[in-house]
Amino acid sequence: MTTEMHPTRWGDPARATALPAEARGLVEMVFGADDRPAVAEAPLAAPAIDPAVLTRLADLLGPDHVRTDDETRRLRTRGKSTPDLLKARAGDLTDAPDAVVRPSSHEEVATVLDLAAEHHLAVVPFGGGTSVTGGLVARREGFAGVLSLDLVRMKRLIEVDHVSMTATLEPGLRGPEAEALLAAEGVTLGHYPQSFEFASIGGFAATRSSGQSSAGFGRFDSLVVGLSVATPQGRVDLGSAPANAAGPDLRQLFLGSEGTLGVITAVTVRVRKLAETKVYEGWRWPSFADGATAMRTLAQAGLLPTVLRLSDEAESALNLADPGAIGGDAATGCLMITGFEGEPTAVEAKRAAVTALLTTLGGSAAGEQPGEKWAHGRFDAPYLRDSMLDAGVLVETLETATFWSNVDNLYTKVKAALEGSLGQPSLVLCHISHVYETGCSLYFTVAAKEADDPLPQWLAAKSAACDAIVAAGATITHHHAVGTDHKPWLAAEIGQVGVSVLRAVKADLDPAGILNPGVLIP
Ligand SMILES: Cc1cc2nc3c(=O)[nH]c(=O)nc-3n(C[C@H](O)[C@H](O)[C@H](O)COP(=O)(O)OP(=O)(O)OC[C@H]3O[C@@H](n4cnc5c(N)ncnc54)[C@H](O)[C@@H]3O)c2cc1C
Repeated sequence: MTTEMHPTRWGDPARATALPAEARGLVEMVFGADDRPAVAEAPLAAPAIDPAVLTRLADLLGPDHVRTDDETRRLRTRGKSTPDLLKARAGDLTDAPDAVVRPSSHEEVATVLDLAAEHHLAVVPFGGGTSVTGGLVARREGFAGVLSLDLVRMKRLIEVDHVSMTATLEPGLRGPEAEALLAAEGVTLGHYPQSFEFASIGGFAATRSSGQSSAGFGRFDSLVVGLSVATPQGRVDLGSAPANAAGPDLRQLFLGSEGTLGVITAVTVRVRKLAETKVYEGWRWPSFADGATAMRTLAQAGLLPTVLRLSDEAESALNLADPGAIGGDAATGCLMITGFEGEPTAVEAKRAAVTALLTTLGGSAAGEQPGEKWAHGRFDAPYLRDSMLDAGVLVETLETATFWSNVDNLYTKVKAALEGSLGQPSLVLCHISHVYETGCSLYFTVAAKEADDPLPQWLAAKSAACDAIVAAGATITHHHAVGTDHKPWLAAEIGQVGVSVLRAVKADLDPAGILNPGVLIP
C-alpha cells in the first residue's frame, strides 16, 4: 500500500472510486446531481527561501532530502479536511511550503530547527498529513519562508521491552507500518483512528488522537509512557517510570502540542499481546437516548467492550455505521456496535456480561453481521466523501465531548446549529464515538448540496456548530485537535490564564516563534 496520498483526495489514489449506482440514486434524490469537474493543477509560486539557505540545508541533510519541486511541495500542502480538499480541488495552493526537508534522526531535526531559527523560517512538522483542523497551515507572514519538516525518514522501531510491555517508535511510522513492526514482535498498539492507514505515530501524539477501539485502548495519550522532543532550546526526554510525582506531568505538555513547542522524535507506548479473538456485534435500540443510557450504564458498571459506538436515528437509517451500504435496507431505531478483542476466555466472559446487561436494558441483539460489516468498512468512509464531493455534495465531520448529564443538550444544540446554517437539502447525522464513565464524545457528519462556493457555506456551518458547542459548555474538540480551525474557540474553553500559560511555554521553548506559527495557540 502506498504511503503517499492523492493531493486533492483522501487516501490511496488506486482506491478512488465513483459512487456505487444505488448510492448515486439516493444522492440524486436527496440533493440533486451537480457533478463538479476536476480543476487543472496550477503551478506553484517559486520558493521564497534564500538559495544559500537551501544549500546549507542540503549540505546538512543531503541534496535528496531538501526538495523544492512542485510535486513534493503540493503533497505537503495542508491536510485532509473538507476545506483543505475544496481548496486543493479549486487549484488554491497558496499554503504550499517553500521547501520540504526530510531529516533522518533527532540530531538532524535539531540542526534544521537551529538553521530555521537563525534564518527566521517557519517550520511545519509533517507526519501523515491527515490533519482535519488546519494543523499544517502555518502563518507565512513575518517569516523568510516556510519549511515542511517531513518525518518520512524516521521510521524505526527503536526498541520493544517485552518485560515491561512497552515499545519505542520513531514518529514518521504510519499506522500500518508501526503495527507490522510490532506484530513481528508479537505485540500490538491497537490504535485505530479512521485515518490509521496514513496518520503517523508522531501525529497521533501531537494531536492526542483517539482510535476506533473507542472504549478500550483508544486514546493515544493514554498509551504514551515516554517522549523525546527536539525544541529550539534543546532536547527533552520524558517518561523514566510508569508513574511519578515529579511535579506536573510534562509529557502532557507535548502531547497535543501540535508541533508548536517542539518536534516529537520518539514515542514510547504501552503495547499488548496480539488479540487472539475479535468479535464485533450489532445491537438495536428504540431511540438514541435509550442507547446512550445503555452505554453510560456499561461504562459506570466497568463493563466496556473494546469497541462501542451508537448511531443516532438519522445515521442508523442511512446505515452509515456501514458506509459501503448507503442506500441499503434502512432499519428502524438506532444501531450500536460492540466489539470485543483479546484472549478468548476473557472475551467470552465480558461478552456474556455485556449481553446480559444490554438485554436487561431493552436492547435487541442484531447478531455479528452489522458488527462485521462495520469492521470491514471502517476505513472506507473518507473515500466516499471524495465521491460525494465529485457529485457536488459537501460532506464533513466534527466532534466534541461532554459529561453524560449534558449530552442531550449538546446533541440538540449542535444539530440545530448545523441544520439552521446549512438549510435544505442537507443531512446531519451523529454517533457517540467514545465512551467514558463520566461522559462521551459526539461525532457529527453533515452532507449538504454544495452552494456555488462551498467553502464559505461550510465555514459558516462550522462556526455555528462551534458557537453551539461552546454555549453548551462542551469541548471544542475531543480528538481532532485545535489546529487553526478551532483556535478562535480555544480561549472560551481554557480561559485567558490558560492561553497565557501556553504562550509563556511557547516563548520559552521557541523564542523565535518558528514552530507552526499561527497553529493552536491564540
Ligand atoms: C479521513 C480522516 C479520518 C480521521 N479519523 C480520525 C480518528 O478516527 N481519530 C482521530 O483522533 N483523528 C482522526 N483524524 C484526524 C487526524 O488523522 C489525526 O489528527 C492524526 O492524529 C494526525 O496524524 P498525522 O500523522 O496525519 O499528523 P499531521 O496531519 O501530519 O499533523 C497534525 C499536527 O501535528 C503536527 N505534527 C505531526 N507530527 C509531529 C511530530 N512528530 N512532532 C510534532 N508535531 C507533529 C503537525 O505539524 C500538525 O500540526 C482523521 C482525519 C481524516 C482525514
